[in-house]
Amino acid sequence: MAGIYIHVPFCQSRCAYCDFYSTTLLRHREAYVETVCHELLHRSAELGGEPIGTIYFGGGTPSTLTAKEIGKILDTIVDVYTIANAQDLEITLEANPDDLTEEYVAALRTLPINRISMGIQSFHDRTLRLVGRRHTATEAIEAVHRCQRMGLTNISIDLMYGLPGETMDDWSYSLDQAIALKVPHISAYHLTYEEDTRLWRMKEQGLVAPIGEEQSIEAFNLLRTRLLAAGYEHYEISNFALPDRHSRHNSSYWKGTLYIGIGPGAHSYDGNSRRWNLGDLGEYIATPHDEDVPHEAEHLTTDERYDERVITELRTAQGIDLERLLTDFGKRYHTHCMHCAEPYIHRGQLVLTADNHLRLTPESIFVSDAVMRDLLYV
Ligand code: SF4
Repeated sequence: MAGIYIHVPFCQSRCAYCDFYSTTLLRHREAYVETVCHELLHRSAELGGEPIGTIYFGGGTPSTLTAKEIGKILDTIVDVYTIANAQDLEITLEANPDDLTEEYVAALRTLPINRISMGIQSFHDRTLRLVGRRHTATEAIEAVHRCQRMGLTNISIDLMYGLPGETMDDWSYSLDQAIALKVPHISAYHLTYEEDTRLWRMKEQGLVAPIGEEQSIEAFNLLRTRLLAAGYEHYEISNFALPDRHSRHNSSYWKGTLYIGIGPGAHSYDGNSRRWNLGDLGEYIATPHDEDVPHEAEHLTTDERYDERVITELRTAQGIDLERLLTDFGKRYHTHCMHCAEPYIHRGQLVLTADNHLRLTPESIFVSDAVMRDLLYV
């Protein structure tokens, strides 16, 4: 089954840490929705009739779109693509808590949206203000309760740790609040100071300081311990879910499933090549409707596909499926993988499971980047 990702590039304002492609030019929304529908039509042959199992509206801030605009995009998808099973289609909408008013949630309920991914990040108003988020902790909690009350219970929340000025007690409090919401899915990311963001400039000016490695590890360990104790499964480095509540859309990325990315800045993957639309809304909406939108593409070599496989599967709790690796890439790559993994297995940082998977041990998750680098081919 394949997935469709729709990149919605609008935000009401820019957060201090964010380097995703987005714009505050909301007046172009209508032209954007028109172009998305044309791009969906124009690229419909790319999936070769493969049925769609998941649709994901990511951003940016998809909740800047009206329900009518979202509905128009969904109608186009249903008209043009083969849907695997309409009853079982996972349709996620990323949303900012302050957009999820009673009226907006009610409008969403008229659509087949069945999963909300909410960017909460922190339960401390001081931090939220510092990083430029528009909501308060109370508004975030109320938004989750409102969605639950109105029947949108399949909710994922995003949290961030390592935020400037936050102590371990602050992080512990945020975890308490997250667990109390009883949502089925929690994603948690360590803050990174991306170059040229507002937060990066604040760091350069000495106005904020990144936390030390020791505190990062402590925060990650606390996250893992607390969520496991609350019944969540740690199924991917940054993702936790109650049993059977994994994100099907994101899981398909990690399994290397075919997906098509629509909208400015969206990425697509067909098993052999990657394509990325240019992150330029002006050029995107100026595309003549019978032409493909501005994009670039690259064909992946076998070495690059092997690297992709290692990076994505090692991020998951199951790890690298060595049987599948051998079948798909042959003995040379399998031998390379095992040869490079050997010292890590010896040090107890990687484990070879009885069902022939190679996975990170909980203690080594935090240094996973270094382990992955050493297993690559290129
Ligand atoms: S973090 Fe999300 S809401 Fe904030 S600027 Fe980036 S895309 Fe927009």
